[in-house]
Amino acid sequence: MEKLSNENPENIESKEDAVESSLGQISQCSQRWLQLGFAAGALLVGGAGIERRMGNEAEYASHVSSSENEKSHAERKNEEIEIKKIFGDSVVFEIQDGDYRAYFERKSVERLEPNLVNMNAAGWERFSNEAFTEKYLEYPKGWIAGEVGEVKYIDSMNIDIESKRKIGGEVVNGIIGAPTIFVYRNTQSVGNEPLIPIKREVVMHELGHANDWKTDRDLNLKERYDLLLSVYNRISSPDSYHRDGDRYYENYIDGTQEGLYQGAREYWADICAGYFLNPQKFIEKHLADFNLVDTYAKKNDPTFDIFNPERGKHP
Ligand SMILES: [Zn+2]
Repeated sequence: MEKLSNENPENIESKEDAVESSLGQISQCSQRWLQLGFAAGALLVGGAGIERRMGNEAEYASHVSSSENEKSHAERKNEEIEIKKIFGDSVVFEIQDGDYRAYFERKSVERLEPNLVNMNAAGWERFSNEAFTEKYLEYPKGWIAGEVGEVKYIDSMNIDIESKRKIGGEVVNGIIGAPTIFVYRNTQSVGNEPLIPIKREVVMHELGHANDWKTDRDLNLKERYDLLLSVYNRISSPDSYHRDGDRYYENYIDGTQEGLYQGAREYWADICAGYFLNPQKFIEKHLADFNLVDTYAKKNDPTFDIFNPERGKHP
């Protein structure tokens, strides 16, 4: 999720105040629910899902083991221990649940670009057709199709009760399928992007959430752990992104494992936004973060070039 700061809203370098809100907890709760489902053989997931899930546990386990050799298995197990130590056991279950879902979705669900819902209410119909697509090379293949099921416009302001800040957008995971991105009246672009009615940074930030170590459809289990640990490494580095503004430390990293994990999630979404929004500036100022996103962006699309002059051009 992303909250909009009032100051200099188009400048990604500005200090953005973002804290988890009551709505953030909704999405958190649904994640926790799914994770319990994983641990308990999906007893909590109702209906036909139960049968399917329990019946497939063995298939999933054999998929994981067949994709590993002795060495990568040992490495993955070590990373699991490290992640438990840093972020807590629940994060490992959450990631395993994400990998489980991704495996079956890759097999059975067609990769489609998202349904755009209610965009005409905002007058964003045309723009959203251009923004949430891989067609114009703005995003690598596999960044949108299959990763976002729906983009839904809610015709109201969304203000966090606690911090009183406007929530720019958010990603909510459902029980099955790709997540929904919600955008609001306050996702409106202000000032210096007159031709683009929606705040692009919000779009790019939320797409980052839709492609993280838990939600991405394409990574294997070890790659998920690698990504989270790389982000942890970045957030702990002296040259970490936004370090000056201390956004992560002020808003998330409060000494608890949950806070640290939230900080890592937001850090990843922010460096994705930095990379896609203004790659030239981002590579100059934040090379290590640039390289991290670039590596993952190219994973499914090795020829993707963030500096391609044709990128984002549309009729
Ligand atoms: Zn966020």
